[in-house]
Amino acid sequence: MPRTRRPLALLLSSLVLAACASTAVAGSPSPTMTTPEGTVIGPEDGYLPDGTSLSPFDTSQAAVSNLERALLDALQDATTAAAGDGVQVQVTSGWRSAALQQSLFDQAVAEHGSVEEARRFVLSPEHSQHVTGRAVDVAPYEAMDWLSRFGSDYGLCRTYANEAWHVELATSRGGECPEPLADATAG
Ligand SMILES: [Zn+2]
Repeated sequence: MPRTRRPLALLLSSLVLAACASTAVAGSPSPTMTTPEGTVIGPEDGYLPDGTSLSPFDTSQAAVSNLERALLDALQDATTAAAGDGVQVQVTSGWRSAALQQSLFDQAVAEHGSVEEARRFVLSPEHSQHVTGRAVDVAPYEAMDWLSRFGSDYGLCRTYANEAWHVELATSRGGECPEPLADATAG
């Protein structure tokens, strides 16, 4: 029954959205974290606990609303188009304050053992495009896959080969994405 395919996909994606919304309201993960130095980092820093995500339309959240306007417009347009294909695009990390970026960098240094190795995965606040609002991380896998195929219609490109989730506005709408860099150190 090809006639029912699209409405069913839309219905399913609304159900998924509803499920996510109710999980977010229940809010089991703490909305803040405290750095080893005692700095409390929360939603106003763009902090999103692991395993949580936001709709690109949730502009009540700094992680979304502080994205550069052109990137946010492109992401919202792509999200609407993806939903038409039954694919839900969620933001796992968007704009980040310098304090949040610094704490992520410090964590990566602790995990990977050196600043050099950490830089392959997390940039310092001076270099991260998340701090300027020019980068967004998306989930789930289906959204990354959809954006890798159709993102350039909106100017959205994967800029690092080792980060399938990291998207920036890197071409004009309908343009061609530049070849992704191997990782964040290659820039
Ligand atoms: Zn990223």
